[in-house]
Amino acid sequence: MGRVGIVTGGARGIGAAITSLLAEDGASVVVMGLPPDRERTEALRASLNGAAKRVHFREGNVAHYDVCKGIADEVRAQYGQIDFLVNNAGITADHTIRNMTVEEWQAVLAVNLSGPFFMTKAVLEHMVERNYGRIVNISSVVGHTGNFGQANYASAKAGVMGLTKTVALEVASRGITVNAVAPGFINTDMVAAMPKAAVEAAIQKSPERRLGQPEEVARVVRFLLDESSGYITGAVYDVNGGLYM
Ligand code: NAP
Repeated sequence: MGRVGIVTGGARGIGAAITSLLAEDGASVVVMGLPPDRERTEALRASLNGAAKRVHFREGNVAHYDVCKGIADEVRAQYGQIDFLVNNAGITADHTIRNMTVEEWQAVLAVNLSGPFFMTKAVLEHMVERNYGRIVNISSVVGHTGNFGQANYASAKAGVMGLTKTVALEVASRGITVNAVAPGFINTDMVAAMPKAAVEAAIQKSPERRLGQPEEVARVVRFLLDESSGYITGAVYDVNGGLYM
């Protein structure tokens, strides 16, 4: 059997590009997502021709540890192995800190930071037993820089970098690599939901004067998940067109 792994939020945007590339490479990909992602996964499968049979959907919210553990255990029981995990699911709830509610803070931290911790914890013992694993966490350029109106999101994404480095240290001797990818502004629904002026300002600030494409992020994730990338761990790969160096 080829490689098997989980991509959270893998049915649209950056996650869908990651799912597609991995499935086309021959991996079996379990997309973990919320109810609307079931239909999106079907649409993604329809675009994949021969690779479609390797993409499967499991409904689950990454903000709940028992759900994460349940899905990881199911995937392991069904396929016998989990070779990789991509913690990609993410949300925003933007407001300046003076207007941000406690609920907005907690919701973004729950999905964007607790989610990667829960999923990592859910797969890690299995990877340790096998002496092999590849984990990639999707952070963000704003985890480096901060961003106006995104105290919750930037804190979570900076936290993801700390989580990445710490877990990388703890499991380096067990054949498991843990890396982060920090995209700049990428052409997805998340950016489409931003105010037009903010998107234009981000484009103008970027040396390449454009948004990135989901595939440009996905190709870096694919590289880090490769078996031959075993000497790269605890790294944060910036994919931002030079927005932050
Ligand atoms: P997107 O198009 O909004 O997709 C996010 C995916 O995550 C969706 O499939 C969403 O499901 C899923 N999701 C949300 N909450 C979830 C939960 N609690 N449990 C399981 N799945 C959940 O976002 P994107 O732009 O592709 O972003 C993907 C990742 O890259 C995120 O972590 C984001 O923070 C990060 N990122 C994006 C950019 C950018 O410019 N786009 C830049 C830097 C970093 P639903 O569709 O059902 O809500």
